[in-house]
Amino acid sequence: QAKAAGRRTFLRYADAMDGDIRRRATLIAALRKVVERGELRLVYQPQLVLADGRIGAVEALLRWNSPEHGDVPPSQFIPLAEESGLIVSIGEWVLREACNTLADWRRDGIDNVLMSVNVSAVQLLRSDLAQTVQQVLRETGVPANQLELELTESVLMANAEHATERLQTFRRLGVSIAVDDFGTGYSSLAYLRRLPITTLKIDKAFIDDLGRPGDSEDAAITTTVIAMAHSLGLRVVAEGVETAEQQRFLLQHGCDMVQGYLLSGPLNSLDCLRFLQDWQNTPQVVSASARLDPA
Ligand code: C2E
Ligand code: MG
Ligand code: MG
Ligand code: MG
Repeated sequence: QAKAAGRRTFLRYADAMDGDIRRRATLIAALRKVVERGELRLVYQPQLVLADGRIGAVEALLRWNSPEHGDVPPSQFIPLAEESGLIVSIGEWVLREACNTLADWRRDGIDNVLMSVNVSAVQLLRSDLAQTVQQVLRETGVPANQLELELTESVLMANAEHATERLQTFRRLGVSIAVDDFGTGYSSLAYLRRLPITTLKIDKAFIDDLGRPGDSEDAAITTTVIAMAHSLGLRVVAEGVETAEQQRFLLQHGCDMVQGYLLSGPLNSLDCLRFLQDWQNTPQVVSASARLDPA
């Protein structure tokens, strides 16, 4: 009896596994054609400089709309693109598209905005990313100091020496390097000190409870990270800032920039251009007591 039940459970499990493997395989097959079929697009999420109320940067985020699978979230397809190696060509498309967009915006009077592009480990370690970056910068005319590459902490940790060497190349070019999702891995700030990075993005998980009464751990971690990052000369960005309380806390503790739904969600390139232009025309002062409202 128990054996039979166990067997049924196993079969259901095996069935589910099978379905899962099949879905992965179909998604990977579909991913092979996304670039040529024009199924990818980028959206752009602005980052606010707390000290002067400027929009200092914009992060490019990838979207896939598949005719067969609908909107597939990056959390689902990026890992598959990495496993299959397709991230190299997809990532090149991302880089070129993001820089083309920035070049357009520059022609429309937007300057001094950094374009931040997510880069996966596979791209950094198993492709000639530096060559691609240089080529794209040449093609689009975007200055190297307006490009930032975001890498997750785990990549830099797992391949420290190799990664460091590669990152040096970008720093020599003048490209900024951000550590994404900081705090979710195991790296210490002492370790980060040895990496040629410019920016630290504190993961949303630490931001969520900031400014709420009773929260002390995340607040302590965040303030410590900000202070130590500053002592290493790094710029600090808080990810996933959704409330005025969180932003106020971050401002009070010297965080440099915020990104999140409070300011804006990701926008298509035209809406983002309008956002940037409106913002330039009516700069908003960020104060510790008020939100972004102009009093
Ligand atoms: P990430 O780089 O840490 O990007 C931040 C994610 O948080 C984005 O999710 C963004 O839409 C979301 N987000 C921003 N503000 C808020 C907020 O206030 N609240 C909440 N709940 N979420 C917020 P998205 O666009 O789904 O991207 C997920 C992840 O996929 C990214 O995390 C990044 O790791 C990866 N990814 C996205 N685009 C690319 C790409 O072009 N290349 C590579 N390699 N990875 C990418
Ligand atoms: Mg990112
Ligand atoms: Mg992140
Ligand atoms: Mg993330």
